[in-house]
Amino acid sequence: MNNNSAIVPVRTTLLMVLSLLVAISLFDPIQGISQAAPCLNPAGSTATTAPAAPAAYPDPTESAAPAAPSAPSSNPTGSAAPAAPTNPAGSAAQTIPAAAAPNCLTGKVIVLDAGHGGSDPGAVNNKVQEANLTLGITLKLKKSLEDLGAKVVLTREDDSDKELAERTHKSNLVKPTIFVSVHINSCKNPATDGIETYYWTGHSRALARHMFDMLVAVLGVKANFVHQRNLYVCVYADAPSVLVEVGYMSNKEKCAKLATDDYQQLIADALTQGIVRYIASKHPSNKAIKSKEHK
Ligand SMILES: [Zn+2]
Repeated sequence: MNNNSAIVPVRTTLLMVLSLLVAISLFDPIQGISQAAPCLNPAGSTATTAPAAPAAYPDPTESAAPAAPSAPSSNPTGSAAPAAPTNPAGSAAQTIPAAAAPNCLTGKVIVLDAGHGGSDPGAVNNKVQEANLTLGITLKLKKSLEDLGAKVVLTREDDSDKELAERTHKSNLVKPTIFVSVHINSCKNPATDGIETYYWTGHSRALARHMFDMLVAVLGVKANFVHQRNLYVCVYADAPSVLVEVGYMSNKEKCAKLATDDYQQLIADALTQGIVRYIASKHPSNKAIKSKEHK
């Protein structure tokens, strides 16, 4: 053994340690959680990098948008990722939020998109169809938001076919305050459950976070992740837009719950709280907004 042979391994080890430190400093906790979580990418995920690839689990809404634009550079919300809630699991410890103030959504226009519909049932478990559940939740959410003064526009009101482009076009015409697409996830592992919310543009990130936190807190379920992904409706809806996955219908127990009016109402309540909190954070005073609009 000579001196050189001892030095080389030391240098190699130092280089490896340095590389590891650089990797850790670049690590995005939110993205990291998504990669670690089991079975959270039924179909659309592979399509994020390969839009033309047919998805094993047919969920058109969750397939990547073709020729998705890159994230806007002027991105105040998204560029500086808020360091605060980097551990979504921790948000489960939040207390159930207080009731929203009456009329706190007056003057706000909200587009709700019940995922799938018509010839596209979405995920199916033992004859329970995702499209029916998302419509049930969305109709309850509409009422909750209207009770707080919001004007709500639905991309579909019944079990009808609606192309994704139709949905975002309808939203863009009314220029809403926000766009929310409601989905229920599914995967091969029947034990998997939890909440995910997706956004694409930076100005949607805070909305995705608020909705995620409230779903986890109110439903008391596993916090999977908030993830940036180029889903069609998130890319092409101009308003801050979020796609929420409110549970796993491949989970037998959860599927049975999701089919009940009570649980659908609970989800609607959680989503309402998320929306109220997001809007309160963006527009602390409705009065101030009104005076601006009247100028
Ligand atoms: Zn879906």
